[in-house]
Amino acid sequence: TTTVALFTGDLRLHDNPVLRSALNGADQVVPLFVLDSGVREAGFDAPNRLAFLADCLADLDASLCERGGRLVVRSGDVTEEVCRVAEESDAGSVHVAAGAGGYPRRREERLRRALEQDGLSLDVHETVVTAVEPGAVTPAGKDHFAVFTPYFRQWERVAQRDVLAAPRTVKVPRGIRSDALPSREAAGQVSPGLCRGGESEGRRLMRRWESSGMQDYAERHDDLPGDATSRLSPHLHFGCLSAVELVQRARKQGGEGADAFVRQLAWRDFHHQVLAARPHASQADYRTKGDRWRGDPDEIAAWREGRTGYPVIDAAMRQLSHEGWMHNRARLLAASFLTKTLYVDWRVGARHFLDLLVDGDVANNQLNWQWVAGTGTDTRPNRVLNPLAQAKRFDPQGDYVRRWVPELADVEGAAVHRPWRLPAEVRDRLDYPEPVVDLDDGLARFRAARGLD
Ligand code: FAD
Repeated sequence: TTTVALFTGDLRLHDNPVLRSALNGADQVVPLFVLDSGVREAGFDAPNRLAFLADCLADLDASLCERGGRLVVRSGDVTEEVCRVAEESDAGSVHVAAGAGGYPRRREERLRRALEQDGLSLDVHETVVTAVEPGAVTPAGKDHFAVFTPYFRQWERVAQRDVLAAPRTVKVPRGIRSDALPSREAAGQVSPGLCRGGESEGRRLMRRWESSGMQDYAERHDDLPGDATSRLSPHLHFGCLSAVELVQRARKQGGEGADAFVRQLAWRDFHHQVLAARPHASQADYRTKGDRWRGDPDEIAAWREGRTGYPVIDAAMRQLSHEGWMHNRARLLAASFLTKTLYVDWRVGARHFLDLLVDGDVANNQLNWQWVAGTGTDTRPNRVLNPLAQAKRFDPQGDYVRRWVPELADVEGAAVHRPWRLPAEVRDRLDYPEPVVDLDDGLARFRAARGLD
C-alpha cells in the first residue's frame, strides 16, 4: 500500500504525527509539499517567508534522501495537486494535519470532498502547530478563552502526547514527478540579515538555546540590546520545530527561565485558540467596533521607514526591514506607537508586519496587534506605552538604537533617545528627523477618540 503525507505547518521529520501515521503499515509513502496558489492569491507569500520556506524544503528533502526517500514538490491548486499525486502513486489515503485557522479548514474540506469523489480517504490528524490543540481547554459554557491567565492555568494541566522520533527509513514510490525545489534566490527582495531556515538549523538553535540562553530568559527577555530571546519563532511558524517537543524539553530542564519560556509558548497557543474560535478576528476588531482611526499617509510612511524621530521606534522598524524579525518588546513599542500615539488602524500595521516578518503568522500577528491596539483580548485596552519611558527601561544605555540607527551612532549613552535635547550644534549635524508628533498631543488625541476624558 501507498499513502501520501501532505506537509503543511510541519516541515520536519522529528515529532511529526502526520508522517508517522502515513508510514504506519504502508509499504511506501509520498512526502508531498504543494506550493499552494491559494496562499499566493491571499497575498501571504512575502519574500522573507518564501526564502525561509526554500531553506526548509531543501533541508527536508536532504533529510528524506538520507533515509532513502525524497520530497515531492508541486505547485498549483493544493486540492488538484494532491489528487493528481494520489492517482499517480495509486495511493489509498492522504494524511494531513488539522488546521485551526479559516484557510486550513477550508482546504481540508475541499480536499476531503475531492478525494472522496476519487474513492480515497483523507486522514486528518491532530494539529501539528500548537502544543495544546485549540479547543482542548475551554471555560465553562464558552468555546474559547479571551483572557490569558485562566487559559494558562488549564493549559499547563493538559497531558501531552509522547514526542515522536524521526523515522529511520522512508520508502518513496518511483516515478512520481516533482517540480524543482524553490530557490532562495527566486524569493524576491529579501531582508539582507534574514536568518536561515530548515529543521536542521532549527534543532541546532534549539540545542544552543537549551545550553545557553533559556536559563536567563526570565530576567533578560525584555533586554532590547541583549537580544536574549530564543529567536525560534520562524522555526515554530514553519513547523521546523514542534511546539509539543519544545514544551516537554523545557519542562524537563526546569528552572525559572524554562518556566517563563513555556509561558510564552502558551501565549502562542492562546492566540491560535482565539483565532480558531473567531476566524474573523484576523481582520475584524475582536472586541470594540467603529473606532475613528486617523490615517495621515506621511506619518504612516515615517513609521514604516523608521523615521518617526523617536529613536527606539525607528530602531525597531529598521530591525524589521533588515532582519525580517523584531524583538518582542520592540514589536510592542512599534505597534503601540502606530495605533495609540499616531492613532492609525491596527490593520495597517499588521499588514506591514506580515509583508516583512519571517515568522509572520495570522494568529499571532493579527491578535497581538489587536491586543496592543486595545481592540483585542487585552484586559487593559487603553494602556499607552510611552516610547521614552520604555527606552529608558529596556535600552538604558541606548545600544539598541545605535545598532540600528547609524545616524545616531556617535551619540553616547541614554542621550541617544532624545536627540532634540542635544546641543544645537550637535543636533544640526545629525541627519535625523524631528519627532512626527508630540507625545502629549498624541496622548490627548487618543484619549479624546476613546472618550476617556
Ligand atoms: P521568545 O521570547 O524566545 O519566545 C518563545 C516563543 O514563544 C516564540 O518563538 C513564539 O512562538 C512564542 N511567543 C513569544 N511571545 C509571544 C506572544 N506575545 N504571542 C504569541 N507567541 C509568542 N509572533 C509570531 O510568531 N508571529 C507573528 O507574526 C507575531 N507578530 C507579532 C506582532 C506584534 C505587534 C507583537 C507585539 C508580537 C508579535 N509576535 C508574533 C509575538 C512575539 O513578538 C514573537 O513571537 C517573538 O518576538 C519571537 O521571538 P523569539 O522566538 O525570540 O521569542
